Amino acid sequence: MPSYSELDITPVINANATLTRLGGSLMPPEVLEAMMEAAKFFVELPELQRRVGNRIALLTQNEACYVSSGAAGGIVVAIAACVAGTDMDAIHRLPDLTGLKNEVIVHKSHRNGYDHAVRQVGVKLVEIGYADGAFDWQLEAAINANTAAVIWFQGNMGGPNDLPLEKVIEIAHAHGVPVLVDAAAQLPPVENLWEFTQMGADAAIFSGGKDLRGPQSSGLVLGKQWLVDACALNGPPNHSIGRPMKVGKEEMLGLLAAVERYLALDHEARASQMEEVVTGWCSELNRLDGVQAVRAFPSEARQPLPRAQVHIDAAAVGRSRDQIVQGLLDRRPAVSVAPGPGDSLYLNPSTLEDGEEDIVLARLVEEIKG
Ligand SMILES: *Cc1c(COP(=O)(O)O)cnc(C)c1O
Repeated sequence: MPSYSELDITPVINANATLTRLGGSLMPPEVLEAMMEAAKFFVELPELQRRVGNRIALLTQNEACYVSSGAAGGIVVAIAACVAGTDMDAIHRLPDLTGLKNEVIVHKSHRNGYDHAVRQVGVKLVEIGYADGAFDWQLEAAINANTAAVIWFQGNMGGPNDLPLEKVIEIAHAHGVPVLVDAAAQLPPVENLWEFTQMGADAAIFSGGKDLRGPQSSGLVLGKQWLVDACALNGPPNHSIGRPMKVGKEEMLGLLAAVERYLALDHEARASQMEEVVTGWCSELNRLDGVQAVRAFPSEARQPLPRAQVHIDAAAVGRSRDQIVQGLLDRRPAVSVAPGPGDSLYLNPSTLEDGEEDIVLARLVEEIKG
C-alpha cells in the first residue's frame, strides 16, 4: 500500500487552521466508513445527489441542498445557476454570456482570492463602496438589467462600514436579484448552516473539508430549491461549466456522514475543552523569558473559538518569530503554526487530534529554548 513515508512526505501536526494546502482537516471514522461503503457500488449519480441533498436540507433546516466539489466549486456552480438558470441552451454556452446577465455585485472590501470562482463563469465583478465598506445607495445604483447576483463573503474579509447582510438581501430582493453568501469557513457556530438562509440569502456555501471534517473535495450549497435545481443542471455529471468540478458518490455519502456528525457534536463541550488547552499553553509559555502568551478570540475566520497568541521578544529569546515558525516545520515532529501580527504567532487547537496539544507545546518550548 502506498504511504506518505514511502513518498518521502512528512506528515505535519496542524496547529494552524483548516488550511487547504495542509489538507484541510482529518476525516473522522464515520466519514471514512461512509466513503468506503459508497465506493463499493455503482449508483445513479444524479439520483444520489438529489437524495443526499434532500437529507442534508432537512437536517440543516434548508429548503434544498446541492453537494459541490468544495466551497469554491459551489460558488462556480451557484453563479452559473444565477446566470443560466435551467435554460439548457444557456447552460451549454457558458462562459459565453451573449444575451445573458453578466454582472455580479461585490463589496470592494470583500475582494479576495476566492472571487476567481465567481469570475470563472465569465461574469464581471462590479464593486460597490470603498476599502472599508459601502452605502445602500451604492448598491441600489449598481443593480441593473445585467445583474445576475450579489456575492457576499462572510468572515474576515470586509470592512467596518459594510452594508449589513440583511440590508443587502432587502435591496437585492426588491430588484429580483439573488444573494449568495460564501460562508466556506463559517463553522462553528453550527447555526450558520441555517442562519444566512433564514435571513433570506438564496444560498449559503460551505466547505465540506474544513471544520465539518467531511471529504476535502466536498462542499455544500444550502438554500432555495430553484437555485439547487439550477445547480444540478449546471454541475456534474452534466456537460456544463461545472462538469470539471466532479462530485463522486464517495464525497456525497461522506459529506452526509460529516453533517450528521457535526449536528450531533457537543459544541459547548468542544469549545470549553479548547479553552482549557489554550489556558494550559499560555500558563506554560508565560514561564519562559521573552515570551508572552495570551488568549486570542475569535479564530482566524472569526469562528467563535479561542487560540493562543504567543509574542516572541527576539532579543530576549535569541531567535525571531520567523525562525521559530520555520524551525517548528523543519524539525520533527513537524508542526505548522500561523504567524500573527508583529512578533506573534498563533497556536490553534481546533485542528489537533487528542494529545497533540502536548506535542505542540513541547516542540514550541524546544524551539524557543533553541
Ligand atoms: C476555504 C474557502 C473557500 C474555498 O473552499 P473549498 O472548500 O476549499 O473550495 C472559499 N471561500 C472562503 C472564504 C474560504 O475560506
